[in-house]
Amino acid sequence: MSPDRRTTPNPQETVDLLSALIRNACVNDGTPTPESGGEARNADTLDDYFSATSVETERLEPVPGRVTTLYRVPGHDPKAPALTLLGHTDVVPADPRTWSRAPFSGEVSDGIVWGRGAIDMLNLTSAMAVVTAAAARSPRRLAGDLVFAAVADEEAGSRHGVGWIAEHSPGLLPWDHALTETAGAHVGPRAVTVTVGEKGAFPRRLHIRGSSGHGSMPWGSDNAALLAAEAALRIARHRTPAHPDERWPDFVHAAHLPADVTTGLLDPDTLDDHLAHLGDSARFAHALTHLTFAPTVLKSGDTLNVIPSTAVVDIDVRSLPGQDDDDIDAELRRALGDLSARVEIEHLDRRTASASPASRLYDVVADAVRHQLPGTEVLPTLTTGGTDARFVRDAGGVAYGFGVYAPGWDVGKTRRLFHGDDEHIDTESLHLTTHALDEVIHTFLNNTP
Ligand SMILES: [Zn+2]
Repeated sequence: MSPDRRTTPNPQETVDLLSALIRNACVNDGTPTPESGGEARNADTLDDYFSATSVETERLEPVPGRVTTLYRVPGHDPKAPALTLLGHTDVVPADPRTWSRAPFSGEVSDGIVWGRGAIDMLNLTSAMAVVTAAAARSPRRLAGDLVFAAVADEEAGSRHGVGWIAEHSPGLLPWDHALTETAGAHVGPRAVTVTVGEKGAFPRRLHIRGSSGHGSMPWGSDNAALLAAEAALRIARHRTPAHPDERWPDFVHAAHLPADVTTGLLDPDTLDDHLAHLGDSARFAHALTHLTFAPTVLKSGDTLNVIPSTAVVDIDVRSLPGQDDDDIDAELRRALGDLSARVEIEHLDRRTASASPASRLYDVVADAVRHQLPGTEVLPTLTTGGTDARFVRDAGGVAYGFGVYAPGWDVGKTRRLFHGDDEHIDTESLHLTTHALDEVIHTFLNNTP
């Protein structure tokens, strides 16, 4: 091989690596126990995979078993831009009773890889490993530094992963430019998403006080469990106003719906009434354009014959850009109506929405997606959940969600499989993502603007 030839990645390695990472079952249940996550297993698999390359490896273990590994391919030009690939190695739990296959088999059959993590996000983490290994094996060096960070604990807020690096050892990563989950799903016949920002998270705990009494005499009692149920129902049924951002019209036009539906979706006053026309993608589109409240945990009572005097309701709150604590609480109080006086609102966290501006990296990503799917338009969009991109943005850098799904994988289907039953991905999407990511690193890291 001549020294000016670069080594191209073999996408079959992405398929094999994904299957192996799924089988390791690095399930993050959100607790700080050493049993949660166990990302050391995926770190070992990745170390094995990289062992035949010249990549520089650094292993971080801030908590026993919670391993993050950095794989660095140094560039030859210190003035060239650097790129960080952030791939988390943990997955959320899976209940085998609601799956039709074993969630951690990593089975590959008929062009499909099955298992927890197949799209969130061991697919992309595997592709990141494969392009990084190809770059490390290549006789032609990249100009800028490439760092693949296989990080722990993303699914529980990244305290033992990127969050730990940002707080304790920020010098370990280049923060100027990064790619991470989650993008590449289709909207309508010709558009594919690139994620440029994400909604904020303002989780709330409602404390509700009633009075205790004997369960044998419920008449006229002030039962905190019933108040909690009523509060949860009111919040779930409350319609927050639509606040579509400047990217929304492109999303709507990309869906290629009849003209009257398009007009309805573009008007904030009639948007909600037309969401159903988006089919599978309606739930994502609603989240994209609204402050959302999801009551997820209700707790009250512990004894069958005692009317409970206290209750708590946890609400998963996802905000739009520009919304802050006061906006959230005011909207929650509106939803509660006359129950508001009975409810104390506790703030559990505060993460405002974040977004990155257009940049050279965005242009390189958009070109790479279009080269894999000719005739496709690239649609900059928000993602509705939190990702590690926010740590890059907090550090002053630019971060995007990346990925390329094969045609047929629309935002509705991919979103349903995130943390869902029977999570899976097709090998064609793994091939497309691997090739596109390879183009991104070579174009971005070799051509200084
Ligand atoms: Zn994820």
